[in-house]
This record gives sequence, C-alpha cells and structure tokens, in this order.
Amino acid sequence: MGSNNDVIIVGGGIIGLACAHDFIEENVSVRIIEQDFIGSEASHGNCGLLYFSGIIPLCSPGVVRHEIYRTILGKSPLHIKPTLDIERLLWLLKFAAHCNAAHMNTASKAKSEISGYSLDLFETLFSEHAIKCDFEKKGLLFLFKNKKYFEEYKYTNAFLENFNLGAKALDRDEALQLEPAINKNIAGAWYNEHDWHLRPEMLVDAWKKLLIKKGLILEEKSKMIDFEIKQGTIRQVNTVTGHYKADAFILATGAWTPEIKKQLKLNIPVQPGKGYSITMARPDQSCDIPCYFYEKNIVATPWKTGYRLGGTMEFSGFSDAINKKRISGLISGAKEYLNTPVGHPDLKQRTDLKQWTGLRPMTYDDLPIIDRSPVQDNLFIATGHGMLGLTLATGTGKAICDMICNDNPQINLAPFSMGRF
Ligand SMILES: Cc1cc2nc3c(=O)[nH]c(=O)nc-3n(C[C@H](O)[C@H](O)[C@H](O)COP(=O)(O)OP(=O)(O)OC[C@H]3O[C@@H](n4cnc5c(N)ncnc54)[C@H](O)[C@@H]3O)c2cc1C
Repeated sequence: MGSNNDVIIVGGGIIGLACAHDFIEENVSVRIIEQDFIGSEASHGNCGLLYFSGIIPLCSPGVVRHEIYRTILGKSPLHIKPTLDIERLLWLLKFAAHCNAAHMNTASKAKSEISGYSLDLFETLFSEHAIKCDFEKKGLLFLFKNKKYFEEYKYTNAFLENFNLGAKALDRDEALQLEPAINKNIAGAWYNEHDWHLRPEMLVDAWKKLLIKKGLILEEKSKMIDFEIKQGTIRQVNTVTGHYKADAFILATGAWTPEIKKQLKLNIPVQPGKGYSITMARPDQSCDIPCYFYEKNIVATPWKTGYRLGGTMEFSGFSDAINKKRISGLISGAKEYLNTPVGHPDLKQRTDLKQWTGLRPMTYDDLPIIDRSPVQDNLFIATGHGMLGLTLATGTGKAICDMICNDNPQINLAPFSMGRF
C-alpha cells in the first residue's frame, strides 16, 4: 500500500485505536501515526474503569466552592499551578462558568447517550474477539468516611436514576459483607452495578495486535510535524519519519492537540489534566471490587494480574515529572479506606511498584470533541475525553467512522461539536 491510505489517524491512544477498529471493520485502509508507542500515554496507566455511570460533568454546581474549601484544608485532589498562561487562565474561568445546573443536565444527558452506546459496543467487541485484558463486570463501590457526604450522595444518586444509572446505598455492615477488604471506620458506601473494569495497558496491547492482524499499519516513534494543506483540504501529514497521504485524517492526539491546532487555525480548548497512578502485584487481601474513595477522589482497581491506585488532577502544563507527594498521597489516602491497601507496608522493600503519570485531555465543559473540522474538509477531531477516555472510546470510534464512511452517526453528536466553542 506504500504511504497512501484511505484514512490516517494521528495519535495512537485508546481513542485512535478505537477509531482504527471501526475503519478496519468497514474494510477501510488505515494507518496510525504515533509519536511514541501505541497506548504509551494517558491510555496506559489509568484506573481502567469502564465508568458508565460517571456521566455527571466535573464542572457541576458547587464544585469551585468545594475545591477552594478543600484546598484551604490541604485536602483537595485538585492542584492548580499558578500561571500567567492566558490560555490556561481562560480555560479555568470558562470551567468555573460551566459549574451550573443547566450545564450539568445537558452534559449528563449527552454523556449518558455516548456512554450507553459505548457499553453496547464494548459488549460486542468482547463477544466477537478474544481480547485478554482482565475484563470484569463487578461494579464500582463508592466508599465514604464522612457520614454527611454519604447521606448527601442520595441527591446525586436520585439524579443518576433519571438515566437508569443509580446505585444502591449500603450501611457499614452491608458494605463490609460485600467487600471485606474495607476499613471498619467507613461511614457507608454506594454500590453502582453499572460499571465495569479492565486492565487498560492489556487492552491496548491486545487490541493493537488484533488490528495489525487485520491490516492496521502503524508508524511508531513518528511524531507528526504538520499537515500539508491545499485549498482547505489536507493532502498529507509530515512526520519525523516520512510523509503520508490519505483521503481523510483524524486528530486523536489527546492532551497534545493544542500543539497542532495552531497550524490548523482551530479553537480546540484542551488542557492537560495530570493524574498519577501506582501499580503493583495484587496484595493478598486486596479489594475484589474496584473502590472509589469519595473524599479523596482516588480509585483502587484490582485485576487478576495486578492492582492499581490512581487519581489526582493537576493543572501544571505538559510536565511529566513525578511529584512524590502525589504518589504518597495515593497510598496514604487508600489507607483510610482499605485494610491493606498496598499489601506489604514497607514500600522501600518493594520492587514491584510502578509509579506513573499521564495527561488527560480536558475540555472546560467536560465533554469530548467529536466532529469534522469547520476549516479543513477532510479533517476530523476526536479528543477532549477528560476522565472518561477509556469508557467512551468505542462510542467515539464508531461515531467518527460513521461520520466518514456513511455520514450517518447513530448518536446525537451536536453536544460534542466544535461549534460550541
Ligand atoms: C490517573 C488517570 C486515571 C484515569 N482513569 C480512567 C478510568 O478509570 N476510566 C476512563 O475511562 N478514563 C480514565 N482516565 C482518562 C483516560 O486515560 C483518557 O481520557 C484517555 O486515555 C485519553 O485517550 P486519548 O487516546 O485521547 O489520549 P492518549 O492516550 O494520551 O493518546 C494520545 C496519543 O497521541 C500521541 N500524539 C500526540 N501528539 C502527537 C503528534 N504530534 N504526533 C504523533 N502522535 C502524537 C501521543 O503520544 C499519545 O499516544 C484516567 C486518566 C488518568 C490520568
């Protein structure tokens, strides 16, 4: 096929892979251009939740006040590095402006549609292909230390019930019965059966291998430099390893999209939201159900092959430096909710601990961008999935493929359009 393809996808994270899957199913030739290795960035060390009930946007009423309060107490998982970067400051202001009930309603409705669509597509993917990734349907257990927050969650839950995504309240004893690894001093728990989990780096690896067998062409270590554009049509993509032509191009570059948007003269307000995780062999008495520590915004995900603690949200630009404080915050946070959160307590003796940091592609309205470029007629954008890129990957891939192959996406993509900016 040489360097000519029907479709080129720039960015080989979970979103790029999911798009490639659907094109291959449609017998469209596809090449992924990736600056590093497939799935080596945000799609690698995330918490692995297929968090279908996570439809409420980050920007919801009261969030700004609550985070300022937690910051004063030194308890916020959100860290904003002081900056004079106008783009980041404007982004933060617009985020704050979206923290209202009207946005929460419309964004949750939009997310519930793409989330349900993705769930069905994951079902199909796993039923049709043997993809080994420690996939399990065990739900998600929200653990509360604070009785007031536990009780107040009933309002959140009532809202989720409007979308048939409600959870079940458990008192301490019921929670301990369901999950004996929980610390006895919790106030209560809400158990949401709608969520699933898997090991993201295994999914990426197995999916990549499957797609290569079916004809996917990969260019790894091939950073895109720019596009060659004539009269509003992209002709080719120039990378550090070569020049590649195609009929259609997809930008699935995650948190790095702002680097490319300058050449394209597009407004793609994505900021990197840095998160951390720590991965280890599964402790003997680890939890069996993924747990979300509500007051800390930390997740513990158990798999057959391992165990991960992940969380935090840092707005500090593109740095990939590991801040040890955030890592120890994950461990000390987990200790408040689980009996043996990391197994052997002497971490210095452990050789199996992997520290990781990744950049979530965050939009200020906490909705992804899934749309055709308003400027270049053969460019499509699939980014801005924030905290839910894994969860929404299959729905995004199918929507992009339908947009290009038959101009007939199965879900309403208006809430994810570029026009909203
Ligand atoms: C700590 C943490 C926990 C999380 N937990 C969950 C979870 O439980 N469930 C969930 O659904 N989501 C979760 N997420 C969010 C999820 O990881 C992301 O939303 C998702 O991985 C984004 O996928 P992506 O493909 O858009 O981006 P990425 O995975 O970052 O992929 C983008 C790719 O584009 C490449 N690229 C960029 N620029 C160029 C260029 N110029 N040329 C070539 N290639 C380029 C990058 O190298 C990268 O590989 C979590 C994130 C973090 C950080």
